[in-house]
Amino acid sequence: MGAASSAPTLPPRRNFQSHRESTAGNAFVVPGAPAVVGADLCVRPLELTASVCAARATHDWSSFRAAKIVHVDVDAFFASVEQALDPRLRGKPVLVGRGVVASASYEAKARGVRTAMSFRDALRLCPKAIVVAGQYEHYADYAARVQRILVDFTPAVECAALDDFYLDFTGTDRLYPDFPATLRRMQQRVEKDLGISVSVGAATTKLVASVASRLHRPRGFGIVPPGAEENFLAPLPVEKLHGIGHVHATTLRERGVHTIGELRKIPVVALVATFGEVVGHQIAERARGLDDRSVHTPPEPKSISRETTIEGGTIDVEFLCALLEYLSERVGTTLREHHRQARSIGLRLRYTDFLSAARTARLTPATNDEKSLHAAAMELFRALYTRRVALRFVGVSVTNLEPERRQNDLFDAESNRRWYLHRGVDRVRHRFGWNALYYGKGLELREHYATKPNGLVLSTPCLSR
Ligand SMILES: [Mg+2]
Repeated sequence: MGAASSAPTLPPRRNFQSHRESTAGNAFVVPGAPAVVGADLCVRPLELTASVCAARATHDWSSFRAAKIVHVDVDAFFASVEQALDPRLRGKPVLVGRGVVASASYEAKARGVRTAMSFRDALRLCPKAIVVAGQYEHYADYAARVQRILVDFTPAVECAALDDFYLDFTGTDRLYPDFPATLRRMQQRVEKDLGISVSVGAATTKLVASVASRLHRPRGFGIVPPGAEENFLAPLPVEKLHGIGHVHATTLRERGVHTIGELRKIPVVALVATFGEVVGHQIAERARGLDDRSVHTPPEPKSISRETTIEGGTIDVEFLCALLEYLSERVGTTLREHHRQARSIGLRLRYTDFLSAARTARLTPATNDEKSLHAAAMELFRALYTRRVALRFVGVSVTNLEPERRQNDLFDAESNRRWYLHRGVDRVRHRFGWNALYYGKGLELREHYATKPNGLVLSTPCLSR
């Protein structure tokens, strides 16, 4: 595979080729290929010429992009998390799932176990495997922690699936002069901090980057330089292309098409005739390493709210204050995660007789400090909670968000200390989960609520982020 070898290096800039250069002499020799590849799919030469022209017209072949799209994939995600959480499972074959294998550790994969296999078959292949039911909360928590590490390297991180991330490093040449070393550092940091390994692939497109990362798992590492995409893909089996599953691969194999290089020789019209308009074109483009999808980063939030219902309602003011402190803390942490600060805060209450009350206040100066947020929320609470009726809902929200701007305050040593405290607390929680640290009142709440890896299990779980 050459370009994605174990010691990859980016070629010097002068050697970078454009798509036009790389595809001009599009002659791939596929060793051992039959004389007529894909005989069933062949069309007349006139149609072939027309289809190639159409393909060239629809794509910007001359566009130049450096290999700055990076795909990061966690190796055997669920099983790795289970091994990270329980040292007794490390180095042993582990199967996660119920009925069918949702994830298998590499020790189990080495014995032939595959994902989506029934447990009966898997245990026949690997009788000593340890079966774990799996805990989604932990996986979501680890996925969020991986993402936070990736964001430290580039803000353009797209979460494609729970353990699947695309990163865009475009424009970081001066920040990271040694790009491969940066990717290695990123890969090592995830493993050092979280105890789970990731595979990394870099290319000009999402498609090629994801093929490069998945080629040599676990701890895979591959960089495909611009212009080398077609050579890189050519010898690989067609199943390696995203979107070609078992069924399409079988159809292609029946027609004598085994590798991506062979697939590329099939005219687009023939692929359209076999797989339909959309899939046919998609396969033709992917076989050439073409993919115009960009890395989508989620938009910056306009407001952040954390709220919960209280089962049965309560008039226990001390408990309500602790809950407000917890919600303010979550809001503050989320603000800091997004590097934002808020200018307005709002509080919403609902009584057990369904009467509601809400009020907002201005925050001066704008802040993301939970102590200031809590103080403002408490002030609103004192003004709003006037009836002697139990409350069944509380919610804290912040709006008018702006980029975080911090200046060392000469006279307010306390706020400076808190800034450093937050930085430390956030860092510990990023690494060890929310429950690693609690402020005093939060600790009291733990008597009322169960805990999950990233905080308390409030009555409205989807809102207890
Ligand atoms: Mg994975």
